[in-house]
Amino acid sequence: MGFDAVVVGAGPNGLAAAIELARNGWSVCLFEAARTIGGGARSAELTLPGVSHDVCAAVFPLGAASPFFKSLPLDKYGVEWLAPPVALAHPFDDGPAALLEQSMERTCETIGGDSRAWARLFTPFVNRADQLLPEILSPLHLPRNPLLAARFSMKALQSATGLADRHFSGRYARGLFAGMAGHSNMRLDKSPTAAFGLLLTIAGHSVGWPLVKGGAQKLTDALGTYFQSLGGQIVTGTRISSLKQLPAARAVICDVAPRHLMTLAGDGLPSSYQRQLQRFQHGCGVFKVDWALRQPIPWKDPQCRRAGTLHLGGSLEEIASGEAIVSNGGHPEHPFVILAQQSVVDETRAPEGTHTVWAYCHVPNGSTVDMTDRIAAQVERFAPGFRDCIIGEHRMPPARLEAYNANYIGGDISGGLQNIGQIIGRPALRRIPYSTPLRNLYICSSSTPPGGGVHGMCGYYAARAVLKRFSV
Ligand SMILES: Cc1cc2nc3c(=O)[nH]c(=O)nc-3n(C[C@H](O)[C@H](O)[C@H](O)COP(=O)(O)OP(=O)(O)OC[C@H]3O[C@@H](n4cnc5c(N)ncnc54)[C@H](O)[C@@H]3O)c2cc1C
Repeated sequence: MGFDAVVVGAGPNGLAAAIELARNGWSVCLFEAARTIGGGARSAELTLPGVSHDVCAAVFPLGAASPFFKSLPLDKYGVEWLAPPVALAHPFDDGPAALLEQSMERTCETIGGDSRAWARLFTPFVNRADQLLPEILSPLHLPRNPLLAARFSMKALQSATGLADRHFSGRYARGLFAGMAGHSNMRLDKSPTAAFGLLLTIAGHSVGWPLVKGGAQKLTDALGTYFQSLGGQIVTGTRISSLKQLPAARAVICDVAPRHLMTLAGDGLPSSYQRQLQRFQHGCGVFKVDWALRQPIPWKDPQCRRAGTLHLGGSLEEIASGEAIVSNGGHPEHPFVILAQQSVVDETRAPEGTHTVWAYCHVPNGSTVDMTDRIAAQVERFAPGFRDCIIGEHRMPPARLEAYNANYIGGDISGGLQNIGQIIGRPALRRIPYSTPLRNLYICSSSTPPGGGVHGMCGYYAARAVLKRFSV
């Protein structure tokens, strides 16, 4: 049987592409290698029976900011965004933690002498976040608000350390900003790491850093059920190894890594395009640990108990040095750790009296070093007694992440390095980055603009490109 479109891979972007095509009247079939849909947005009982962990993505500032997700009836399909009282906490060895809250005022109260500089930097962007965030979460284009875009770009194209040096002098704001920029998965003295710090902070002040009640799986289930309500078909447990396996379709859209696109197309792609895909670089990997606890984490600063997410790494200098070690192929003794404690706001994750912790640090791509003890030591540093609370543990080194989801090459969770070259030419230099030289073949994974994260915008824009290409 033929379809208007076939989508390979049911991650957030594959689902988004499938939904956008289906809601424009196309018949769509979605193939997924795993037994369940969702890619990087799934939940599972990784440690103990009845304890649900987010296997990959857990925190959704970009999901909440996504214009595509906002256009869907996700609430009718069971998605409830839960905003923790504090979006993010950044503890230090002594003294109180810096806290990112939606309120600019309350955030500024926690960052000492840099409070005015923080407000001066972010307020103009936060006030116009509803215009700015859609501009950022899209492929390269002529901005609808050129002055706003220019103002943002001038800051965003800097390195995180450079921007912090220019704006902040105290450890609170510098550390807080370094942690936000740490999501770039790059060394912080490289451009454009400031962009990640700015984007995630602006999102924090405007839409928050919400979790999904019940876990990432609930978001995926909602996307899948909505897609099916539009007539879409889903086939799970079917890894596609060649485009020849697929039913006839006007367009094939692949939620896969560039190198897997080459495998799927065999020698069908022109060699010039293949060479571009071969040059596509992957970034550092991550080492992830999930824990089940008998009690909430005993943070030294009690304010940290109110935060959904925590950045553990102390000062900007320490975080920057750790990320530099990773990018030089090493493993820092004190890695920068990104941690989520879902049960702060979501009692559905674990039986009463049990709590979930999700944490990861960056490691060189393909690393085989076990970072569990170093991650636990960073938690213990800011929460003495943490180790005594652990009742279950699950580790995901890069190889295990890649086995779980073929797109995480060497443990790279961003779909490829997000340096300037690969932001512009993601996955190759083309006017329409989602298109390939084959008329009916498209790519929509996070290896396309706007890049990593659960927001569905790569899939949405790929589907729009397909609809435009085939509209008569
Ligand atoms: C540990 C970790 C933590 C993260 N934390 C966050 C977070 O807190 N917030 C956030 O926004 N993002 C986070 N991310 C990143 C986020 O998960 C990804 O950016 C996002 O899932 C990318 O979506 P995608 O649709 O492009 O690809 P994926 O989610 O990778 O989905 C691709 C899908 O395609 C399938 N597939 C691939 N090849 C084939 C094939 N040949 N045949 C059939 N199916 C195939 C895969 O099985 C997979 O289901 C995290 C990722 C990881 C691993």
